[in-house]
This record gives sequence, C-alpha cells and structure tokens, in this order.
Amino acid sequence: MTSLPALAAIGVDRLKRVGPRHAGALAAMGITSVLDLLTHYPRRYLDRTNQASIADLAEGEEAMVLATVRRTSARRTRQGRSLVEVDLFDGSSYLRVTFFNQPWRTKQLAEGTSVVVFGKVERYRGRRQMTNPVVDLVGDRTGRIVPVYPQSEKAGVASWQVGDWVAEALRRAGAIPDPLPEDWRDRLDLADRWWAIQQIHAPDSLAASQVARRRLAFDELLRLQMILVMRKRTIEREETGIRHGSGGALVARFRDGLPFSLTKAQQAAIDEITADLQAPHPMHRLLQGDVGSGKTVVAVAALLTAVEGGHQGALMAPTEVLAEQHHAGIRVMLDGLSVPSEHTLLAERPLRVALLTNRTAGTERSRLLAGLADGTVDVLVGTHALLTEAVAFQSLGVVVIDEQHRFGVEQRAALREKGPGQVVPDVLVMTATPIPRTAAMTVYGDLDTTVLAEMPPGRTPVATVWARGPLEEAAAWAKVRGEVAAGRQAYVVCPLIEESERIQASSAAEERDRLGAPGGPLEDLRLGLLHGQLSAREKDGVMGDFRAGALDVLVATTVVEVGVDVPNATVMVIEDADRFGIAQLHQLRGRVGRGDQPAWCYLFGGGANPGAEQRLGALERSTDGFELAEVDLELRGEGTILGVRQKGATDLKLASLRRDKELVTQAREVAFDLVDRDPFLEGLPELAAEIRLLVDDDDREFLFKS
Ligand code: ADP
Ligand code: MG
Repeated sequence: MTSLPALAAIGVDRLKRVGPRHAGALAAMGITSVLDLLTHYPRRYLDRTNQASIADLAEGEEAMVLATVRRTSARRTRQGRSLVEVDLFDGSSYLRVTFFNQPWRTKQLAEGTSVVVFGKVERYRGRRQMTNPVVDLVGDRTGRIVPVYPQSEKAGVASWQVGDWVAEALRRAGAIPDPLPEDWRDRLDLADRWWAIQQIHAPDSLAASQVARRRLAFDELLRLQMILVMRKRTIEREETGIRHGSGGALVARFRDGLPFSLTKAQQAAIDEITADLQAPHPMHRLLQGDVGSGKTVVAVAALLTAVEGGHQGALMAPTEVLAEQHHAGIRVMLDGLSVPSEHTLLAERPLRVALLTNRTAGTERSRLLAGLADGTVDVLVGTHALLTEAVAFQSLGVVVIDEQHRFGVEQRAALREKGPGQVVPDVLVMTATPIPRTAAMTVYGDLDTTVLAEMPPGRTPVATVWARGPLEEAAAWAKVRGEVAAGRQAYVVCPLIEESERIQASSAAEERDRLGAPGGPLEDLRLGLLHGQLSAREKDGVMGDFRAGALDVLVATTVVEVGVDVPNATVMVIEDADRFGIAQLHQLRGRVGRGDQPAWCYLFGGGANPGAEQRLGALERSTDGFELAEVDLELRGEGTILGVRQKGATDLKLASLRRDKELVTQAREVAFDLVDRDPFLEGLPELAAEIRLLVDDDDREFLFKS
C-alpha cells in the first residue's frame, strides 16, 4: 500500500523510464512528484472501436482521427509564412494536415509517427484537409481506449510518453488506500479509489472513465470541504466570543427611524445574525445579496447590537472611496441616536460614528484613536487599515467586512488582538457580488451564509439596452435628454482604462467636455465630473450637487460603482461596456432604478468583441444578480471566482463548480459528517494525511492542533 503523501514525496526521476532530461521537461510542466504525474489526467480518450475513419469524414464536422504520418514537407508561402504539410493515412484514406507558423512540426511529425489529430474537416482541391489541428502523439498503443494527455510541445513531452510513465507509476505504486469510509462510498455510490485512479488513466470503457472521474472529482471537492469545515468547527470550538444581547431598544429605535420598513428577508437576516451574536462563540457569517437588496441596514443592525451592550462596531471597506461613502451613509442613518453615558447630566450622549482611512492624519487621527481606546467612538468605518497594530479598541464587538477580500487565519489572529481580552469579535462578511450557491460553498465554505433573496418593494427592473451601433447610441442620448427634461438625472460611465487612475481621470474629463460641447449629445445640460483623482472635498462637492439636483448628468469613472445612491437618477450610459465584466456591469447598473420611477441602462460598444455578445446579451436579458453570476461562472470558469480566496482550489483538477454542483453539495455533507464525528480525524489517518498535504504550516497547526 502506498499513500498519496508517500507518492508526493517520490520524485518522478525515480521512475525507470524517466531520465534526467525528461525529469527537467516534466518539471517545466509542473510535474515533479509521482503524485503530480498520477494527477496529470487525460484530457480526452480515443475510443478505437468507435473511431471515424478518414474516408468517412464529412466536410465541416469536427473530428478526431488516429493515423500514421506518411509524408512531411515544409515550405514558405508567398507572404513568407512557414507552412508545414503532413499527409496522414489510416488505412481508409489520406488526410492532408497543414500548419502555419509552426516549423517545428517537421521534427515532431516524422514519417511513421502515430498521431491523433483533432480539428475541423475542410475540403481543398477535392481533398480532405485540416488546418492547425490539435495534435497528440499517442504512440503505438494497444488498448482499446487510448488516453490523450495534455502534452507540452515546448518541453518536448508527448502524450504517449506521459502514458508510459503513468503506467509504470501505477504498476509500481501498488494499491493506494481509500480515504473515504465505506458507508459513505456506498451511500453515494462512489467507486473504489484505487480502481478509479487506474481507470481514469487506462479505462476499460468510456463509461468506466466517467465513473472514475466522478470518484476522483468527489475526492478533490471533499478535501477542500474538509479544510473549510474543519476551520469552521475549530473557530466555533476554540474561540471565545462575546455573548451579545438580543438587539434591544437601540436597534428598535434605529429600525423605527428608517424611512421604510424592513423587507422580510432583511428581518430574517437580522434575526439570524442576532442569534449568532448571542451565542458564546464568535459569529463568522456571510451575507449575500444582490445590488440594492439592502445589506447595509442589516450590517448596521449588527453593529448596533454590539454598541447596545457597551461594545464597539467596525465596518471595513475594500477602498477609501467606499469607506467614505459608507461613513456618510451610516452617519445619516444613525443621526439622532444616543447611547448611555456616565459623564453627562442626561446620562446619555450622541452615538459617535467615525471614519479611519490612510487619509486620516494629524490631530484628527490622534483624537480618533483616543476615542477608540476609551470607547467613546461607537462605530468605526474604515479600510482594512483598521486592523493595524496602532488601532486599539476599548472593546470591539462586531466587525462587518464589506466585499470579499482575503480574510484568513492571519486576519483572524489580528482580530483576536482587537477584541477585549482574548475574546474574538463577531464577524459578518458581505459580498457585493453574488456568486452561485455551490461556488459560495466552496469559496466561503468556512462561513455560515445568509442570502437576502428579496428586493425592497417598488423597484422596477432596469430596462437594459445594448446599443449596438450609432443609431441606438443616438436613441440613448435622446433618452438621457428626455429624462433630464422630466426633472430626472443620469450617469455616464467612462471606459475602463487599465493604465492609471490619472489617465482614467483625464479621459473622463475629456469625455465630459465632448458630451457637453456645442453640437455634442448632451449640449446645454449641466454636467458634473467624478473620478478617483479628486480630493475628498471635491468629491463631496460634486456628489452633493448631484444629490441636490444642481447637476443633470454625472460623468464618472467606475467610482460610481459602489455606494452611490441617488434615487432620482433614472438613466445610465456605460461606454465601452465590453471592457467590463458581468459582475461589474451589474454593479454599475445597480446605481439606477433605486427610486420608484422606471429606469434605463444603455450599454455601448462591443460589436467587434466576440465575448461581448454573451456578456452584454446576458445583461440585456436579466437583472437578477444570481442568475448573472451563473452565466459569469459559465463563461469565465471557476478560476476567477476561486482565485480570490482559496489556496486549496488549485487542487481542483477534475472537479468543476459549474458542472459538478451535486458533487459539491455531497462533499460538503460528507465533510460535516466526518468532522462532527471525529474533529481531528484520528480514525481517518489517510484522509487526514491527504488534507495536511494541501495546507500550509499555519493551517495545519490551526486545524489539527499539532
Ligand atoms: P446593497 O445591498 O447593494 O448594499 P443598500 O444597503 O445600499 O444595498 O440599499 C440600497 C438602497 O435601498 C438604499 O437606498 C437603501 O436605503 C434602500 N433600502 C434598503 N432597505 C430598504 C427597504 N426595506 N425598503 C426600501 N428601501 C430600502
Ligand atoms: Mg452595499
């Protein structure tokens, strides 16, 4: 029996058929251990019994054929491009394969070589042909099903070599034990793991390769879920939190002072959070909700529950702009509320909300720090600067983190320092961008989750139009002028420019001038300009004017993406919309449709960009953030979502959060069961060892207390 950790400790160079040169080439592909090699899975299979022969290939179809190289020649085209022509023969007919700008193909495809080519069948001068197909060197294999491995032309490693090395590794590894208890294997109808490892590399049938894949994908997801669930349970077990009150008079006064009543979803979220806050261990919860679903109110209720019990609350935003906006908004919401005080005649004082960013300096900063230390600042809004050492709270009770950013073991340690004594504050994480449920289970699987699945009443969905050409653009500008004439306001969002904020700012200024110039589309309207290069005071001035209706149109960079809340604004034009991702466009669009008037969003550009059709089209069709998140996941793959937070995610080689939703849910269920039965996995040494392999020293210590 060989365990996976043991295989991870054996270098590939220990395989007889891997020489030093091969070992170097494999290393260049990221394969250094035998385990790396065994998890370098085939990207597809060639079923010899059910294979197209060249004579049967129809023009226009995508096909995969196995054939032998008969002749290879190289020449230059009249334009001077390199052209390699290869004639393949499979016993039924010839196929001409041409490669442009790949002169090295002459060496790769020497006469007599067996290859699998995959590509689109064309006809040229009466002959079947493929141009620049995918080529795999499978060698002279005998099996019925031939695995086709990701190979590396650059490193000079061919699919058939990988197959040989894998075969040797499998032969010499002997059986590999199964880390999953049998009862779960039976219940989920999962194959034995050793069988699965063998079958994924050398399947008896295509069906067997699928069964094997399901088992191995499940294991990937299980390992990830085990880490997340163990982290969650460790926090619950080991960390001491504050037993907050049930959110009494202060929260009630806050709620009664709001100009609206809470939605059912908001009230349910507040109840759930309040229950967490009352519990003895610290809360660690994610609040998901679409743009405009009203997450801020829920967050503020949590902060006030801490304040009510004599503690402090902090809200961390990812950027200074957002922190400033939150600060302004929350101050308004909490205006007029007071807290008990021993030092005043009335025995109470106004509740104090403060802002801390890198811009807070000098005496203002020292006064603020003093207020945090003596407890007279009740609610602090800031960037994650507020987790630095210099910031000492008298008693930090609840922390709200707006938008996803890394919040791992180190940040929790920093938090512990901030709490009173060794007590850890309660943490609520809010996402600005909804993600699909199974993705959330994976990215935020160490958190409890609450979803605000309901919008405040009276919202009309924003009518979204992708303006595909100049005529539609003209119609969009006409709509802007029409709405302004009716007393309403608009945003124009300028193109996203990668270079720098400074260039972004100057191009926004140019765009404002162009739009407002005589003969320009927004001539005679009052145009304001908002970008990240303005000072806080300038920004406040512009936003104040816009809010007061002294400006008709706000020409802005993406700084309007977050927090900006002007219900009278009913139109948004997003220029070069194809430069933005789905989530960002959805966020931007969320700035309109916040009042009770119908609203419009016009997306410009993207005609020439192939991905634009899917993205901009999706925005036209849907205003539901969760639905769009599914589309986004579909289009961009999971890497982008996972990359944000999860190190272990690189372990997902077979599993896909998109296709394997059911497996994700199952893996999570199994993880909870196993961890709750056996928190340190003492009875599951194999699984424990495989998990240790994935995490770093800090995590290992944290999870296994070793
Ligand atoms: P987000 O979830 O995007 O952070 P916000 O908290 O900024 O949403 O709320 C969006 C807007 O909806 C704000 O103007 C807020 O005042 C308003 N709002 C929040 N809750 C309600 C409600 N229950 N009824 C009406 N309007 C609400
Ligand atoms: Mg918000």
